[in-house]
Amino acid sequence: MRTPFIAGNWKMNLDDNEALAFVDAVKDRIPSQDEIESALCAQSVSLKGMAEKASGTDLIIGAQDVHEEQSGAFTGEVSAPALTSAGIELVIIGHSERREMFNDTDERVNRKLHAALNHGLTPIVCVGEKLEEREAGQAEQVVRTQIEKALKDVPGPKVEGIVIAYEPVWAIGTGKSSNPQDAGEMCKTIRTHIRELQGESAAEAVRIQYGGSVKPENIADYLAEEDIDGALVGGASTKVESYLALLEAS
Ligand code: 13P
Repeated sequence: MRTPFIAGNWKMNLDDNEALAFVDAVKDRIPSQDEIESALCAQSVSLKGMAEKASGTDLIIGAQDVHEEQSGAFTGEVSAPALTSAGIELVIIGHSERREMFNDTDERVNRKLHAALNHGLTPIVCVGEKLEEREAGQAEQVVRTQIEKALKDVPGPKVEGIVIAYEPVWAIGTGKSSNPQDAGEMCKTIRTHIRELQGESAAEAVRIQYGGSVKPENIADYLAEEDIDGALVGGASTKVESYLALLEAS
């Protein structure tokens, strides 16, 4: 049985004071990790402070990106060892905003995934098609290729600990969410593809989230789909009451 996993991706929102106050407001109201895993992914500057505040609770603090090298002359970047030494356990990799605006190609996503796994970070690997790809009937192929390239040379047992987030690009921040059945079908396709690539136990263990205009009002419809194990939530995770309502409705 896969534990549902609800992660908030704050993107470049909430300053340090707001981020810390948010953790204070929610940390005693987080459901037990045995029932649901709950995470918040924040800007780098706030991660350590948030992790300190969340320590001893079931709230997981995550980063939104990681560099593929473990150290060196990469001004402005954050390494996996820097994250783990700050108490961070989780990282989003290959979000479509990074793929579009920051040159995160499939190959870089793969290198970042290796870096995360080599340093014991749980990765949330994002995949998803653009509107024009969906309209051209290419959505499934695009997502299969992203999965295949992201997971290149990752051994099966390590794949078991990975989280995949299926986020159709046209549904992100648009209020235009994918209908749950279509999202469920794509998540099933992803699981089937992982089964082909890595075998049964990786396919059964890997958790697949849906992301794109998820709100407290629609999250249960996504989680009702057999192959959707959680959600990666942007806008609706940035307000305390709405974040708690997402967890409550899961
Ligand atoms: P929204 O929930 O704001 O659509 O964002 C989704 C997302 O990109 C999460 O990573």
